[in-house]
Amino acid sequence: MNSLGSRVGWVGMRTHQTIAELIDGIRRGDRALLGRALTLVESNNRGRRLEAQELLAAILPSTGRAHRIGITGVPGVGKSTFIEAFGLRLIERGHRVAVLAVDPSSSVSKGSILGDKTRMEDLSRSERAFIRPSPAGGSLGGVARKTRESILVCEAAGYDMVLVETVGVGQSETTVAEMVDFFLLLKLAGAGDELQGIKRGILELADLIAINKADGDNIAAAKLARAEFERALHILRPGSNEQWMPRVVTSSAVTGDGLDTIHDLIVEHRDFLESNGAFETRRSTQQLQWMWSLVEEGLKTAVREHPEVVGRIEDLELAVVEGRTTATTAAEEILRAFGVGD
Ligand code: GDP
Repeated sequence: MNSLGSRVGWVGMRTHQTIAELIDGIRRGDRALLGRALTLVESNNRGRRLEAQELLAAILPSTGRAHRIGITGVPGVGKSTFIEAFGLRLIERGHRVAVLAVDPSSSVSKGSILGDKTRMEDLSRSERAFIRPSPAGGSLGGVARKTRESILVCEAAGYDMVLVETVGVGQSETTVAEMVDFFLLLKLAGAGDELQGIKRGILELADLIAINKADGDNIAAAKLARAEFERALHILRPGSNEQWMPRVVTSSAVTGDGLDTIHDLIVEHRDFLESNGAFETRRSTQQLQWMWSLVEEGLKTAVREHPEVVGRIEDLELAVVEGRTTATTAAEEILRAFGVGD
């Protein structure tokens, strides 16, 4: 009753004043109000979604200014340690850093891979950093929508470096690559044969591969892994004058080795893309991809919730599973019930 009461209270309280206050708070860089604005953007409630859209429309002119960096790697590769060390360096160089996460695993395993431990304590203490755990989204599409909108809110709040972290669960790497300007893959050196088990797709997404934990006894193995990845990339992505040739470096958050090189390469990549117009193209292509993925999500929901469809789904699914009807026939029936198709 209590939590329901307070939630209803919040929605009931909604006024333009409140949205205006949030917008004002974002512009002033008020962290508490920024947090509330992100909670609004993350909401699944229909009424609050409308408020969120109002807020996003108002801040739109102040968005787009950050350099958006995606970072991926398996659990244990050192992502949070890296982001903390790298984020602190960015702050030393005068940046303001927002860290967001895309972790759709919470809806699959009921426990989030990225969110559970206390992470990035030093970075989170900095006035110039803002760290937000992955929104609980249900589907990857839901989490992606929330994260894209959160990027905009952080940009309007003056964060000029947005780091979006993800684990390689399902399609999450592709999803993050589609919302950032630069995509960094962290890898560990193994016992040779580095490319075994690596998803081929990820090599096509990465702008930079860092062989991480290249310190102590690991240095020699890291250098070997680096050479192997370089060879693979030359074969997979020969590159051209118009295309960025992905690089491979070694890094260690413990010693700090490689972190400045990574920063320099991120800047070089941006200069390269801006010099041939590809930066703007990449961003506008992403906007169009996003628009269509929203249309697709919206349509799927509309079909599933349509009064003529909703009562038939269970039977049709069962009929398909049991082989009594084909997927094609069932899909046609659903679409007809929805009002499209012959
Ligand atoms: P995540 O799961 O990818 O976020 O990985 P963490 O950042 O939590 O790191 C996993 C473990 O690796 C921790 O015990 C870290 O202390 C350790 N670690 C992280 N970065 C480095 C590094 O650069 N060198 C070494 N030797 N260990 C590291």
